[in-house]
Amino acid sequence: MRFVPILMFHRVADIPGDRNAMPPKMFEARMEYLASHNFHTIGFDDLLGGAPLPERPVLLTFDDGCRDVFTEAMPCMLRHGMTATVFMVSGAVGKTNAWETDKAPSPMMSAEELQNWHRHGFTVGAHTVDHKPLNPLLSDAEIERELTESRRALEEILNAPVDFFAYPYGIFDARAKRLTAKHFRAAAAITDNVPLAHFDRYAILRIAVSSKESLNEFKLKVSSFAPLLVAGKRIEADVRMLRKRIFGR
Ligand SMILES: [Zn+2]
Repeated sequence: MRFVPILMFHRVADIPGDRNAMPPKMFEARMEYLASHNFHTIGFDDLLGGAPLPERPVLLTFDDGCRDVFTEAMPCMLRHGMTATVFMVSGAVGKTNAWETDKAPSPMMSAEELQNWHRHGFTVGAHTVDHKPLNPLLSDAEIERELTESRRALEEILNAPVDFFAYPYGIFDARAKRLTAKHFRAAAAITDNVPLAHFDRYAILRIAVSSKESLNEFKLKVSSFAPLLVAGKRIEADVRMLRKRIFGR
């Protein structure tokens, strides 16, 4: 399978110091770059469908579903003829991001906003009910509840199937993957645990985009060098761990 850069954003908002919140002007510049360089946004349906992909495909995703994704990011993407997937925390629809206890609470997309997003050709995926990591602390039944209940709640709002899932914090193991495969067509991860040598539809590589990066770093992330970038970061982390083990620092 050909490499398609899949980017992970969170918010489009001016919040100094928050790497997950990209100021609207900065987001606009990145969309402008993609549009003027002949990139075409695709969805997970296209990625898995087997039909030929457009020239320079890119897949944009937003985790959690903060309201600014609807008010700031969506109009900008529409202006540039782009689409995206939002992975919505189903229990937070119309509420706030209560799980981010170290940050000021922010409003999340409402049911009407999700419907509007979907009507404009954008995709909604699930991201658990309360943004719980699918780690060994949860029982099989608890994991399945996060999966099935988030899917059900979003399908009820959209009156359409919700086929894709993203692991909160990018955390998953073999069990979480197996259970996710029972309920979704594919699942997006970040970089941890993701195989780089082959495509695993339940551990899809996504590259996090940060508000602290320059436009040049962004360009690299949508280039064919992106997998090398991830591999390089992994080697760096391994070397750091090895050094700590050997030298204790
Ligand atoms: Zn999340």
